[in-house]
Amino acid sequence: MGDEIKEECALAAVSLHNPGPKKHAALNLYKMLLQQQHRGQLSAGITTYNPDRTQLIDTYKKLGKVDNAFKTYRREKFLGIMKKYAGSNGIGHLRYATSGADDEGYAQPFERHHGRSWKWFSFAFNGNIANYKELKEELKKASYRMVRELDTELLMHFISKQMVGEKKQALENVFSGISETIDGAYSLVYLNADGELAVLRDPLGFKPLSYGMRDNDFLAASESVAFNTDGEIKTESVAPGEIIIASNGAIEKKRFAKSTRTAHCMFEWIYFASPNSTIERSNVYEARRNLGKTLAKYETQKIDKEFIVVPVPDTAKPIGDALAFELGVPSEEGVMRNRYIGRTFIETDNREQKVKEKYSLVKSVLKDKKVLLVEDSLVRGTTTKGLVQRIRQHGKAKEIHLRIACPPILGPCFYGIDMSTIKELLAAPYVKSIQEGITTEESEKLAKDYGVDSLIYLPVNEIPKAIGLPANNLCMACLNADYPTEQGKKLYQEALNNAKNGVKKRTYE
Ligand code: SF4
Repeated sequence: MGDEIKEECALAAVSLHNPGPKKHAALNLYKMLLQQQHRGQLSAGITTYNPDRTQLIDTYKKLGKVDNAFKTYRREKFLGIMKKYAGSNGIGHLRYATSGADDEGYAQPFERHHGRSWKWFSFAFNGNIANYKELKEELKKASYRMVRELDTELLMHFISKQMVGEKKQALENVFSGISETIDGAYSLVYLNADGELAVLRDPLGFKPLSYGMRDNDFLAASESVAFNTDGEIKTESVAPGEIIIASNGAIEKKRFAKSTRTAHCMFEWIYFASPNSTIERSNVYEARRNLGKTLAKYETQKIDKEFIVVPVPDTAKPIGDALAFELGVPSEEGVMRNRYIGRTFIETDNREQKVKEKYSLVKSVLKDKKVLLVEDSLVRGTTTKGLVQRIRQHGKAKEIHLRIACPPILGPCFYGIDMSTIKELLAAPYVKSIQEGITTEESEKLAKDYGVDSLIYLPVNEIPKAIGLPANNLCMACLNADYPTEQGKKLYQEALNNAKNGVKKRTYE
């Protein structure tokens, strides 16, 4: 996706049966975070438990990618961090911010120190609290003072509130209390100074969370790709509303909240997740290939020898390859992505500069060709628009036909994906009815304004088929306005009003 919308983060958790100098929580967490770097590059952090340390649980977090945060460029420094944070159990986190500042204080895990070991905990989460504004007010009225404008801090207070009193609460009860208060998406990893480790997923299961056993070690991560370095580990998704508590080589599964339906974010399969991850038993690579095959069914051009498929790197590659195979035309790398570009370059507001920094053209591939340019999705569409212009002007393509493996994004996300207003969405002004989707006339008008010869979006009903899950198991609210939570429905109405009245601020702040 040229727009670079971001997932909020990645999680990791480990509980080891027989830890030792070469097998300890910090090293396992480091490896699992490294495999999930695509989910967040702003900061990386871990908390580990070690009963032989005075600091029973201890947290290390730094800004930057995993390698930088853990200083892998200096062997002795890296080993020093690993030694200091060695332990039997641990949790880890990677952050990409949709809210809050770029400063270390916002990095996760969040540790809350307490004199009593069962009240001393650390946690990290992936998601977004949709009723954040209301809950913040509630805390304020109870004389809480929020230091940071951050839903992680809010969650920390609500977890603490469940532990008030003399009696230690079972973890499923702590989180059962939270689930009654919170509307939104949260996959969460938790560790306390009693060495109890827990992983859990909200009752709708918006964000992925997988787990597996390696001998008697328990491993969990946002994506199953995190276990790739450890050979063949059979992985499963944590069930929505389920909490898994791990200690000493044993796991206990409990239910902390009822789950009447699920709402897995469809974007995981389309864009976010690594192609070699499997979520809800549906492989991401296969889902993307299915999207490409399906696009072929909707092709309107009379395909001849001048056509080539050019996927926008990297997510659209399996989609483009499958489309090309079905149409019997070559899939060519006419656009190359600079994989080593720094975040500061990518974040520039200058569209032309951004495209130049990020993509380069292989002119010999594009010249005089009718290009079927394949994108996984279009949100704001600014980067892809710049790319289209360059392919035409500098690549000298004869025609450009844009093929999008996702329906138009017409509604904001209140569950942790960085698209929070209707105004920023490219297709929204063109489409009259979000429920009915884009019409041929609307699509033609958008194609003309966007500077492409034709434009095809996949319709909404093809998405569950390509993923291989029933439609009512998925969240597709940004495509069809069917928000799966009460607060989501309410915020959507606010977003519509804001768009009508020209209000620019994020709907959930
Ligand atoms: S609204 Fe869209 S991006 Fe947000 S969770 Fe639902 S499907 Fe995913």
